[in-house]
Amino acid sequence: MGIRDLTRQRKFEEELQKYQQQLEQLVEERTAELQMANKELKSFTYSVSHDLRAPLRAISGFAQIISQRHRASLKEEGQHYFDNIIEASTHMGMLIEDLLKYSQIGRKAVDLVPTPLGGILEMITDTLSERIAESNAQLDLPTDLPTVMGDQTLLVQIFTNLLDNALLYHKPEKPPLIKMTSQFDDGHVIISVSDKGIGIALEYHGKIFNIFQRLHDQDEYPGTGIGLAIVKKAVELQKGALWVKSSPGRGSTFNVKLPLGNNA
Ligand code: ADP
Repeated sequence: MGIRDLTRQRKFEEELQKYQQQLEQLVEERTAELQMANKELKSFTYSVSHDLRAPLRAISGFAQIISQRHRASLKEEGQHYFDNIIEASTHMGMLIEDLLKYSQIGRKAVDLVPTPLGGILEMITDTLSERIAESNAQLDLPTDLPTVMGDQTLLVQIFTNLLDNALLYHKPEKPPLIKMTSQFDDGHVIISVSDKGIGIALEYHGKIFNIFQRLHDQDEYPGTGIGLAIVKKAVELQKGALWVKSSPGRGSTFNVKLPLGNNA
């Protein structure tokens, strides 16, 4: 290679390095902007849902007072409207609580530590015990769950929501039949929560993890459409994966893949 060729090549390399540096700076700036916008959106959701609680409490409280203390002086139509206000504000209260839970996830830095899943499951079944008894549900739960690299609060949210849904979406007149299993997979564990409930059509398998996506009326199956969005966010924050297998009328299996803890 001649001197001129060498000089040209060096110049070319210098130019390339300059462009690379400019590109890196641009990516850094855009990432910082995105992180800022994300942070603002999170705190906006948090403060809006937080601040909506007090006025809603007033609406629902006064509506209840009128509907109870002054029921006799209301015509049937008036009573009906007040019952509607109370019902709608109860639903809005549930939406606000779930939205708060959703926006709180990941607000604090997530600390992934070895966490035994057995203890988590015990806590959850304790909390859900009343609902389990009321619905005559049959639960088949594993006794040998491993330790995962995770965050206790997020793990509780994941399996509470999945079991809660398995308890809710059963066929009318058929008590919920729920089975939970675990299986090792290359440094990970896959926990599956299966039910024999109403199932989900294939076209909705991706959509149900989006916030506010619901497939039923409030009267048929009550809910907010936020539970699975919480599950998805919690799984992602723990470097896991989440997918569903389901067919209408046969039931659903929600699979959560999580990294195993050190001492698993
Ligand atoms: P919610 O249960 O409050 O509506 P989710 O985000 O937990 O909200 O679930 C979204 C939708 O996915 C539900 O409305 C329901 O249609 C469907 N779904 C979730 N879990 C199940 C399940 N185990 N069986 C059948 N459908 C389910």
